[in-house]
Amino acid sequence: MQDGILRGNPAVQRRAMAKAITLLESSRADHREQADGLLTALLPHTGKAFRLGISGVPGVGKSTFIEALGLHLIGKGLRVAVLAIDPSSTVSGGSILGDKTRMEQLSMRMEAYIRPSPSSGTLGGVAEKTREAMLVCEAAGYDVVIVETVGVGQSEIAVHGMTDMFCVLQLPNAGDDLQAIKKGVMELADLVVINKADIDPNAATRAQAQITSSLRLLGMHGNPDHASAGALWQPRVIQISALLGQGVDAFWEAVSSFRDMQTTNGRLALRREKQSLAWMWERIDFGLKQAFRQHPQVKAMLPVLQDDVAAGRIAASTAARNLLLAQMQ
Ligand code: GDP
Repeated sequence: MQDGILRGNPAVQRRAMAKAITLLESSRADHREQADGLLTALLPHTGKAFRLGISGVPGVGKSTFIEALGLHLIGKGLRVAVLAIDPSSTVSGGSILGDKTRMEQLSMRMEAYIRPSPSSGTLGGVAEKTREAMLVCEAAGYDVVIVETVGVGQSEIAVHGMTDMFCVLQLPNAGDDLQAIKKGVMELADLVVINKADIDPNAATRAQAQITSSLRLLGMHGNPDHASAGALWQPRVIQISALLGQGVDAFWEAVSSFRDMQTTNGRLALRREKQSLAWMWERIDFGLKQAFRQHPQVKAMLPVLQDDVAAGRIAASTAARNLLLAQMQ
């Protein structure tokens, strides 16, 4: 499988990638062992792609934009992988992003690889599978890996935590902008893209000015990815029309200058380092919690203590301490 990923012709490579990602997504313990072996073998071949996160509310135009961007990049001789984290799949097994008819033109291109969101599990689990799928795409030589998510909740933080650059798509509508700023999402954004500028150019220009000044204010508090000495990236706001393909080249120029700056000032390497360590700790936390819940003594005590805490018979912290002590025995 690993040979197919690293050296196969395009058709062989695609099959090997799909097989590898299915293996990574499996929850069987023996599969997990194989998957870990595969990741270790692929790891030296990863890291060369640019990892681009794209978020936005349903309907903002993410798939239209990613398709236009993907085709633009293929035109430049690049290969593009598109992965997704769909928060709805983790809650209901449903899908906001997973529509099969999305990105029809891009999905027909040999230079593109599109994979829908892992379809179940906790958000942490889905994020982990997506990170691993990203490594498979990188080992297969894709130049740009786009990770798409919906502009709600924790999934944006997850995508921000695994990409080199995080872009937020916005509608040219001031109410929405304030919403996003309130939610703290704008603080994560390296680039804000106002889409559908063709519908109302004046509104788009107003939104651009408003978001630009909001980002300046946020910048004064400092985004840890942007704040430190040296040539630093100031988050930008651009207008596009994904439908008409307008502004896609300007978008890619902004991405390229971000990449150059972050490479030169060392922030790109630092961001990846932090992300890898945060990922490790997140999985340790998860693993410990799982082991904790499976401990026989804890299993026996948990229902009673939970009732006691709920009924106010014992303090939550005391119950937690008792359970932790039981697990250590
Ligand atoms: P997603 O849910 O964020 O993936 O949004 P889609 O890409 O599916 O787009 C939602 C709708 O908006 C579709 O009907 C698109 O054709 C339309 N759309 C996307 N981008 C633009 C744009 O730049 N201008 C206009 N007028 N419509 C757009």
